[in-house]
Amino acid sequence: MSPLSTSELDPIDILAVDEELGETERDIRDTVRSFARSELAPHIAEWFEAGTMPKDLTKRLGALGLLGMHLEGYGCAGASATAYGVACRELEAVDSGLRSFVSTQGSLAMYALHRWGSEEQKQQWLPAMAAGEAIGCFGLTEPDAGSDPSAMRTRARRHGDDWVLDGSKMWITNSPVADVAVVWAQTDPEQGAKGIRGFVVPTSTPGFTVNQITRKLSLRASATGELVLESVRLPADAVLPGAKGLSGPLACLSEARFGIIWGAVGAARDCYETALAYAGQREQFGRPIAGFQLIQQKLSEMAVQVAQASLLASRLGRLKDAGRLDPTHISVGKLANVRAALDVARSARTILGGNGITLEYPVFRHMVNLETVLTYEGTEEMHMLSIGKAVTGVQAFR
Ligand code: FAD
Repeated sequence: MSPLSTSELDPIDILAVDEELGETERDIRDTVRSFARSELAPHIAEWFEAGTMPKDLTKRLGALGLLGMHLEGYGCAGASATAYGVACRELEAVDSGLRSFVSTQGSLAMYALHRWGSEEQKQQWLPAMAAGEAIGCFGLTEPDAGSDPSAMRTRARRHGDDWVLDGSKMWITNSPVADVAVVWAQTDPEQGAKGIRGFVVPTSTPGFTVNQITRKLSLRASATGELVLESVRLPADAVLPGAKGLSGPLACLSEARFGIIWGAVGAARDCYETALAYAGQREQFGRPIAGFQLIQQKLSEMAVQVAQASLLASRLGRLKDAGRLDPTHISVGKLANVRAALDVARSARTILGGNGITLEYPVFRHMVNLETVLTYEGTEEMHMLSIGKAVTGVQAFR
């Protein structure tokens, strides 16, 4: 067999990692990529600048089967983990905010209901959420409890059969447009409820308000808010029966982090692809800048980083599909791929020179979005500590 000639290499996927996708996964990739390129990419700079996302987009994402796509039943597509990852990658190649919407809806809010909810809660919310007719959010973080959610102050107390919730949640994606919030709160041990529990809170419940967080310089196309809960009275069956303790929300975060591992590849790929095309056209000193060694060094490093991140995502996808994905694997993937994507974005930005700082090109937008991606769903330091604990057997969080 003759070796692959340079001209047969796909410069965007130099190790041909996508050859490992199955037929269905490839079909999903092509469908989502084509939708993302034709329906999302032409408008994203405008949405980012305006700090909004069109309302009807949620139903279009639902019609494509992208909301809760890796969940079974209740109107969800039941796709493989790898297929879900590929969809996240193609969405985040346009914008991390779009992938954040899909992650929060499918992997945080819907997953919490699907994994921990009662049959009635699932029937009530999941089909509408899968169709994009109802939007969900996930309230774990608080103003004084971020990396350490066990320090949360939001309380749920029993009043007769009812629950009454008081507290606040910070940085909650989708909350300004949500119909339902999954809210995590401390309960009174002497009331037999045991620690942190999840509650399904329709956002129309009296005492529940959302203050939108504006003036963000990152993830602008994604709506973020603060939840305020003042004597929010809920019926006894509002609690998620299956989730007891912090493992409940942490299981949901693992799902969302898996999507980020793939999504980061998309953002990195788009930055690299943009820089490569730009370098081929932009002339200085009488020739395209792609011909200068220093530019080639950056492009080849980007190509390697995108290839490595793709391989990592692919491996973790297969482990998840085999039911063997461990939280430490997820920490490795999130830490490595978000870092790689940020590196690629910063380097691509320099290749675009002054043009690199504008919204005319996607690179700076990806770069500032990735600053959030580095922080949410476990900061880079938290993932380092998780890996450190796994390899040494000693926890260094406290
Ligand atoms: P802190 O926890 O205060 O951390 C500050 C710094 O200290 C970080 O660098 C951190 O790594 C470091 N640090 C903390 N403890 C240690 C330690 N032991 N050792 C070393 N370093 C340490 N949350 C939700 O619940 N739902 C959402 O939908 C959601 N969406 C978000 C959307 C956006 C745009 C953003 C920005 C955040 C979102 N978050 C959401 C919150 C996010 O998960 C938190 O911001 C994140 O967990 C970090 O918490 P923090 O911001 O309070 O930072």
